[in-house]
Amino acid sequence: MRGNGFIRVAALALAVPAGTAPGAQNALAARAVEAAYRAFPDLAEVDVTLWRAGQRAAPASAPLLTLSVPAAARAHVARALGQGTYTRVWRAGAAPVALAPTRPAAPTSVFWRGSGPMRTVALTFDDAPHPLYTPLLLDLLRRAGVRATFFVIGRGAEHYPYFVQDLVRAGHLVGNHSYAHRPLRALPPAEVRRELARTSALLGALTSQPVTVFRPPGGGLSPAVRQAAAAQGLSTVMWSQNPGDYLGRTPGQLQRAFVQQLRPGQIVLLHDNVDATLQALPAMIRAAQAQGYAFETVDAMRPDAATLAGTARP
Ligand SMILES: [Zn+2]
Repeated sequence: MRGNGFIRVAALALAVPAGTAPGAQNALAARAVEAAYRAFPDLAEVDVTLWRAGQRAAPASAPLLTLSVPAAARAHVARALGQGTYTRVWRAGAAPVALAPTRPAAPTSVFWRGSGPMRTVALTFDDAPHPLYTPLLLDLLRRAGVRATFFVIGRGAEHYPYFVQDLVRAGHLVGNHSYAHRPLRALPPAEVRRELARTSALLGALTSQPVTVFRPPGGGLSPAVRQAAAAQGLSTVMWSQNPGDYLGRTPGQLQRAFVQQLRPGQIVLLHDNVDATLQALPAMIRAAQAQGYAFETVDAMRPDAATLAGTARP
């Protein structure tokens, strides 16, 4: 369970024996949701991930069932799950998505920062979605009126599709962060192409928008990775500011690093699943806004964005 200073969210991981029927999975998940809300009536959302017993520790394993239950859905989730009408749910074996069309590579296929004199900054969150942190982050950004960019791991998008849709509905930009978050430089080119294509297809199907931006896991760029992205119509987006939120820094350290390094056109590397980032974010946003900065998604920071004005943005 975590909070963001405004709301609290609980993420439950449950294990069931192999062979547990879908109906029994639904019933167990609904009971767990109800128990969580009864124990903590102030929760804004309860998210559940159901695993087959012993499976969670296995690398690259997939859950059996995931669901997200905002407080407003608490009363009807059990019935809706039973009737198959609940929308914030994913189940193993769900139909695979069709490959979304790609479009020609952008003129500038790799960029690290925006250009021009405008006081704009782009926050980017890697490794989304996460059943505990994504709803809390979305809530904070909504309160601050800030749009950001989320680089989504395909496997996570597959298992938590409703969070990807939440991101887009809230006006954020969703980018490709590979399917399994493996170091792409170490993979054969064909495998790199599959990692990217599978993720773009998933995201495109979930959001009904073509995916245009990509960030390699760990920032690992090579000519083959760059080429695979460009061939699939993806601009590779790196970063020009790295407060180091994956290094165990405190919220105060992150905020100071962010403010000290703040410059127009910056693309800031952050992560979707870090406590300190969640805690530092409101103060970071306030500090930037006090200096006259506006927050943009990374597609507006492309060096060639001016030539795309009016066509690239919804
Ligand atoms: Zn990553």
